[in-house]
Amino acid sequence: MKLTTLHSTQLRPKTGKVFLVGAGPGDIELLTLKAARLLAMADVVLIDDLAGDEVLALCPQARIIHVGKRGGCKSTPQSFIEKLLVREALAGHAVVRLKGGDVSLFGRASEEIFALEAAGIEFEVVPGITAGLAAAAELKASLTHRDHAHGVAFITAHGAEGAEIPWRALAHSALTLVVYMGVARAALLQASLLAGGLSGDTPVIAVESASRADTRTVCSTVAAMVNDFATQQLKSPAVLVIGEAMAERASAIAEAAAIAEAAALAEAAALAESAQLAAGTTRVA
Ligand code: SAH
Repeated sequence: MKLTTLHSTQLRPKTGKVFLVGAGPGDIELLTLKAARLLAMADVVLIDDLAGDEVLALCPQARIIHVGKRGGCKSTPQSFIEKLLVREALAGHAVVRLKGGDVSLFGRASEEIFALEAAGIEFEVVPGITAGLAAAAELKASLTHRDHAHGVAFITAHGAEGAEIPWRALAHSALTLVVYMGVARAALLQASLLAGGLSGDTPVIAVESASRADTRTVCSTVAAMVNDFATQQLKSPAVLVIGEAMAERASAIAEAAAIAEAAALAEAAALAESAQLAAGTTRVA
């Protein structure tokens, strides 16, 4: 009896473990050492689009499963991802579920945690640097300010149509608002903020692709944001940082942009002048 029990236990594969890991905002150097270590020992890695391909070099041994909206495909259904996590762990694998930014913000982590708990699977959560904090670093700005902002709210504009987002309370909160998934819903966001009582002059800075080589910043105000984002062709992924704490940065960025534009104009004029001179010299010769 004892022997049989031992035998069947040995045959049964050991249950694996799932690691829900934040991949940070894109710059591979912003991945934690822990995330890198887990990637290097993973059997299976489930990866989001936002996590980026560079991380794949850290887990050449692992089986990679893409679960994002690659190549215009529809995203993998959430329920399928949850089943996959459970199935791979039950098969005895060390599974890393890599999510863009931080795990706990707008990444549907609660559903995955619930599914893992329900299946009795051991798991760990490893935080990452969220896009909003990478945006603040990109802007060289503080999200809090002794006079203007005593805290920060991370908000999604996604589903804001029907969602119970307390815009009025947020507008009067003196918090810096960091809005995720706001590019496509800029008009709705603007209307909600204005209706909530936020002044149209309030600075808004959009940071596209924070921490990546192709990052871009668009400075605007609540009143002008829809127009400015359209003119500047702001693209996703971008976070919008809204509030008086951004006022100094917005004017510093605008000033730097004006100086750069003036320098570019002066350079173009100098080039045109030297080209004209050269043409004159050639004719004389
Ligand atoms: N868990 C992620 C957020 C996922 S929701 C995090 O903590 O960052 C996806 C949204 O995140 C995008 O629509 C965009 O608003 C924001 N985002 C993700 N990566 C970004 C980046 N590198 N720069 C700017 N915004 C980014």
